[in-house]
Amino acid sequence: MSFSEEVKEELCRVRTQNACCVLSELSAVTQSTASLALSGGRFCLIWRMEHIALARRVLTLLKQHLDVSAQMEYTLIPQFGGRRICELKLDAKDSEKVLLALGMMKADGSGFNLGARNMSSGRKCCRGAYLRGFFLSSGYLLTPEKGYRLEIILDSREKAEAVQHILQMNGIWGAACRQQKEKFHVTTESGDEVIAALTVMGAVNAMMRMENIRIEKESKNRANRAFNCDQSNLRKQLAKAKAEADLIGEYLEAHTLEELPEKLREVARARMENPTASLEELTQALPSPITKSGLYHRMQQLMKLIG
Ligand SMILES: [Zn+2]
Repeated sequence: MSFSEEVKEELCRVRTQNACCVLSELSAVTQSTASLALSGGRFCLIWRMEHIALARRVLTLLKQHLDVSAQMEYTLIPQFGGRRICELKLDAKDSEKVLLALGMMKADGSGFNLGARNMSSGRKCCRGAYLRGFFLSSGYLLTPEKGYRLEIILDSREKAEAVQHILQMNGIWGAACRQQKEKFHVTTESGDEVIAALTVMGAVNAMMRMENIRIEKESKNRANRAFNCDQSNLRKQLAKAKAEADLIGEYLEAHTLEELPEKLREVARARMENPTASLEELTQALPSPITKSGLYHRMQQLMKLIG
């Protein structure tokens, strides 16, 4: 099961207490997945969704909160790539009841609007429910081992901007909205923001799993940075040791070690015998004890003298 599916399974088990939040979630699912079909001269609501657990959740919420019973059917639909999807159908009377409750039909029955509703004036408690509804029906999450991305794909700019607005109201300011062919994508690629969105929607387990993966990734990155830094220091140290040994070698083509003052002669000999040693290691190669900084100064004197 993909990470997206796991999160959706978890979200389908979230218990919604407030009636306002149930309507908000149903509104989002309806905006994303429902259409109206004409039957016997009247309009009927049909939801089409791939996720069976979501279809069952919608069925239950409709029954419990609006006392309507939808028919559930499995069907193969060409626009879903021939995949099996779930259809929920209501008769005309129940369709009107639901559309009225969701504010998608005028009270006199004169007009429908399945488009984006103004959700900014909605209650604070409902924001998570809206987001959950949109994510459940049109959302996608990249598996956190590969990176961070939450995406909600909608069929109109109006709906996409409404989702972007809900995200922003929850402090998810990085959510961008862009058009790709016929669809509108609302996306955030920040780990912090994906975690914030999971929290708002009520996906507590997924949020904790992401946090853990993030901590693991960060400590791995830190270890890698430290390793790279050590490697780079090692390369520099080797290059320096080689340059010193080369210079001493050139000097000895025309001179002898005996021409050097005793202290510097010891340093020169130790370097020639240990051409890759660090200064620290080189202190051990000298006949009399010396500190690293003492050796550093003698090496500088030697290089100046013979360079
Ligand atoms: Zn609410």
